[in-house]
Amino acid sequence: MRARSEAQVRETRRGLWLAVIVYLLFGIADALLIPDVAVQAITARFIVAILSMTVLEILVAADASSKWFDVTCSVTVVAGYIGWLLPSMETQAVETFRFYMLFGTIFMMSANLFFNLFFRLSVATSAIILLIFFTSLAFVPPLEPHQQLVLVLFYLSCFVFTSYVNWKLNEERYNVFLNAREAAQQHEESEKRGAALERLSNTDYLTGVENRRAVDKRLRDYWSNWQNAGTSFAVMLVDVDFFKKYNDFYGHQAGDRCLVMVASALSDMLKPLNATVGRYGGEEFIVLSRVTGREQVTALAEVIRATVEDLALVHDQRRDGQAVVTVSVGAAYTRAQTGPKLERIINEADRALYSAKANGRNCVRLFDPNDPLSSDDNENIAATLRMAIRNDLVHLVYQPIQNMRTGRVEGVESLMRLKMIDGTPLSPGQFIPVAERTGAILELGLWAIRRACTEVLAPGLVPLASVNVSAIQLKSRGFALAVSTILEETGVSGSQLAFEITEGIDMEGQSDVIRCITDLQALGIRIWLDDFGTGFAGLSWLRLFPFDTVKIDRSFLQDARRPAGRAMLEDIIRLIRNRGLKILIEGLETADHVDLMHELGIELGQGYYLGRPVPIEEVRIKAVPRLATVVSL
Ligand code: C2E
Ligand code: CA
Ligand code: CA
Repeated sequence: MRARSEAQVRETRRGLWLAVIVYLLFGIADALLIPDVAVQAITARFIVAILSMTVLEILVAADASSKWFDVTCSVTVVAGYIGWLLPSMETQAVETFRFYMLFGTIFMMSANLFFNLFFRLSVATSAIILLIFFTSLAFVPPLEPHQQLVLVLFYLSCFVFTSYVNWKLNEERYNVFLNAREAAQQHEESEKRGAALERLSNTDYLTGVENRRAVDKRLRDYWSNWQNAGTSFAVMLVDVDFFKKYNDFYGHQAGDRCLVMVASALSDMLKPLNATVGRYGGEEFIVLSRVTGREQVTALAEVIRATVEDLALVHDQRRDGQAVVTVSVGAAYTRAQTGPKLERIINEADRALYSAKANGRNCVRLFDPNDPLSSDDNENIAATLRMAIRNDLVHLVYQPIQNMRTGRVEGVESLMRLKMIDGTPLSPGQFIPVAERTGAILELGLWAIRRACTEVLAPGLVPLASVNVSAIQLKSRGFALAVSTILEETGVSGSQLAFEITEGIDMEGQSDVIRCITDLQALGIRIWLDDFGTGFAGLSWLRLFPFDTVKIDRSFLQDARRPAGRAMLEDIIRLIRNRGLKILIEGLETADHVDLMHELGIELGQGYYLGRPVPIEEVRIKAVPRLATVVSL
């Protein structure tokens, strides 16, 4: 509005200046047509001009409203008319003056058409001029009646005509104004609609928090702030624990409600902290925050975890002793070594989340760059694993398992070895977790079984070979069938094989696992429980599965030096024996260890002292008639 009237004032000012200059130039006409009164006429012109321009400039300086400019114009027009008419009436050049009077209509025209005054003011101005004209007729030198008629008619028609055109112009201007108003309104509305649409496209339809699209954008902003201004930030991935179970048992609607409640609790808690929460996937949320430093990140992640736990949403289908909905949180934050790629920090948070899940859930893990499992090399390892079999990068080594009573080697444990393309060897501790995470373990696992069958069992080098099998393999469809095919193709009997399984991190669908184990046992394969004592559910596992042998983790052997440790080992041994299972103790590294085995009456042992894992070429065990030895195991 202000801008519009400013433009109007500028235009009026320019118009008035122009009109005044033209008005002054008409002084020349005065000098030519009415020379006897020219001095007075021109003086009057100057007085009007100077006065009006002074007023005009004062108004400009005072920043007056456009209304005052309009009034000044109209007063100037009237004053200009009077200033010209009064001295001219005194002239002796009567004939000329009679024509010259027509010139007065120009003032009407300027009021109605030249200046852009508001309609009523311009018509009033030209009406005043008409009135002055009528009044002056009484004082001018007498005119012929027909001359007077011409003058009057001309003034009248000029008044009507210019007022009419002025009215039309105003109407037109009004229409233009209306159209402009409408256009502005439409623009405003479409902007509002656009904003609503934008909001919609950035919001998760279910939970109302930001969706992945919006989070990705925000993440890029945080990232560029970090790159350009060094403003560090943290990324936290928040995953609802056992959500699939929740959904399956309580139904999808309840599942949705659960997500909505978690989302709104997080968003209420995070808003005052100026952090953002978004939905990143099914039951996964992401939190972005300007938090810096390890302690702060851990503290915030812990608050997130506790917030969800405090909701106390009942979830009694989980089997880990908890009965409410909880979340696992994986966090990462920008560090000097974060590197130039945005994906990296997400990847780090993802690894931290994986580790939180692996550590029993309902907990918080911060990405640890020193953790070998977190290293960047994992990408390389994953790539190597994909082509390991084809490129002969993987092989098995065999470690003897000895009968402690007879001293005979009764079997071997097969252990996988992998080397990178450049020949660098990798330990299973490095590549097995990656293989499990990427699923490469499925193919590699079957390969290991086949290789153990062909290398040591089929030629009869040992009566029995054990192969480590991941929980993921047991859960995979058709595993038992694939194993039976291998047995058939290699001509090996199931009873020559043992599978060592550890309590895996992903044993949710235990019914699948039990079914698979039953199938494997039907093939004659023994199932051994590996690393007994290291997993928290080891005991319940003993109850759940019909194991053949239990391998006691070597940490118990190390602890057995102290009386308390020894008592513990004895307790464990008793417990396993009570269940009627065989015992194998791992990690025999010294002669003392072997003595202890004898003392405790342990039947099977394995360790560096008895024999290190060796490649197939070094398996120097005499072939023994198969059936004879198998029975003794
Ligand atoms: P594990 O099944 O407990 O295997 C025993 C590990 O202890 C082996 O390490 C072996 O070399 C080592 N060891 C044997 N005797 C001694 C000893 O006296 N002292 C000490 N300190 N260590 C001893 P390795 O070969 O590095 O394997 C590590 C783990 O990797 C294995 O633990 C197993 O969980 C996994 N793994 C190895 N091969 C495979 C495989 O083919 N499939 C699967 N799923 N996992 C495998
Ligand atoms: Ca093992
Ligand atoms: Ca073990």
